[in-house]
Amino acid sequence: MKLLEEKIKTDGIALNEHILKVDSFINHQIDPLLMQEMANELAGHFKDKGVTKVATIESSGIAPALLTSLALRVPLLILKKQPSKILNQDLYQTVVTSFTKETNYELTLSKKFINETDHVLIVDDFLANGEAATAAIRLIRMSHATIAGLGILIEKSFQPGRQKLEAQGIEVYALARIGNMAENFITFI
Ligand code: 5GP
Repeated sequence: MKLLEEKIKTDGIALNEHILKVDSFINHQIDPLLMQEMANELAGHFKDKGVTKVATIESSGIAPALLTSLALRVPLLILKKQPSKILNQDLYQTVVTSFTKETNYELTLSKKFINETDHVLIVDDFLANGEAATAAIRLIRMSHATIAGLGILIEKSFQPGRQKLEAQGIEVYALARIGNMAENFITFI
């Protein structure tokens, strides 16, 4: 998506070869018109896939996922990060390794909001190593729901997320795909 690539070039900050800061328009301050355009693009791509729910991981996936769910006219599920590991029979639970924080956390989803008839589109801001998306898929599949695909704003294609997900048969659609990055330098594929 040209618009997003341009915005990343002007307002994104490549801190180093691994981390891109987009907190002036995606995950701290949000540019609502750009966010809406991105969500409409994701919704348009997946509109004929029979999506019954959109799911995301709190918190930076919520804005694009909410607008995508609005465009598709389906509910949004927020997979919650829980610090504790207390077992709860009303919840599906799984562990995720966080890329940015280099820690583990528990991801949860209430059994009330999902079942085997659901076909779920997962939306997130970034795809890096694919750990968050893999955990989201694992959690959603605990209910025997199926996965419609993964919609991503920014994919760092030099990291193995896409390969990992495609190897599991998941369709990945990313609006901007970064091929290479270094301090103040970004290329797209
Ligand atoms: P993964 O599990 O694919 O390695 O990482 C996905 C999550 O890590 C995303 O939801 C995002 O919150 C965070 N993340 C990964 N790479 C970046 C990055 O370069 N910049 C920012 N701001 N967040 C990132």
